[in-house]
Amino acid sequence: MRHLKRGDPPASLADGDGTEPAPRVAWYDKLYKEDGKINDRWNTHEKDRVTGTTPIRSALSSLSDGLCAYCGVRLPSGWHVEHWLPSDKFPRLAYYWPNLLPACAGCNLKKKAIAPPVTPKPLIDPALVAKDDEAPYNKVSFLEARIDRIIDPSHDDPMAHIEFECAAMIFVARAGSAMGALTIKKLRLLQERDVANDVARISEAVRLAISKGLADDAVVALVSLTAAYPTLVEEFCGFWRSFSLRARM
Ligand SMILES: [Zn+2]
Repeated sequence: MRHLKRGDPPASLADGDGTEPAPRVAWYDKLYKEDGKINDRWNTHEKDRVTGTTPIRSALSSLSDGLCAYCGVRLPSGWHVEHWLPSDKFPRLAYYWPNLLPACAGCNLKKKAIAPPVTPKPLIDPALVAKDDEAPYNKVSFLEARIDRIIDPSHDDPMAHIEFECAAMIFVARAGSAMGALTIKKLRLLQERDVANDVARISEAVRLAISKGLADDAVVALVSLTAAYPTLVEEFCGFWRSFSLRARM
């Protein structure tokens, strides 16, 4: 899990120029489809017929360099647009760019199972005019006020809360980080068997490449090409490099 620096939203989710309401305000007027589900415009608006993607999906994929924002797996086709504050409980945040993350189906489903935060009033997109019983969502102050939550990698620096232990091939919480511990527990980061096998393969590929005398840059470039979890390659590179140096002493 890496810290994601969120840039400007795609045009369809941008704020207005102050004279007109933001374009997405109209989307909230038709928030639900006939089947009662939220209109998933992130999957449909200006969809490219050839690539099948949309500007919102492209922007989210770019945000994380094509990786799941949580587990770091290369985003498979059909990856999910994740709402950090879930859209079923916070529907009037469905099109709010700072609330959206790209996630693999596994992480999104595990995330759905986590009880959402309870708020005194329903939180809504700040572009909307709040009714009496609603409050505009201020993401920074909301997240800063809570530690009983999982990491939002587009707000928190995940590495301040969790670290990857190469020897055990698991994420562990940094000392004292309740948020790190909760994130690992709830999302079961890299804990499923298939995933553990993928991680072990990366470790072995890196070890082999180093044993053949490749420099770190070359090891990272080579193994990252096919690694399911590219961000782990560098971690293992440092681990196996220190091992081989110690062995030579
Ligand atoms: Zn994931």
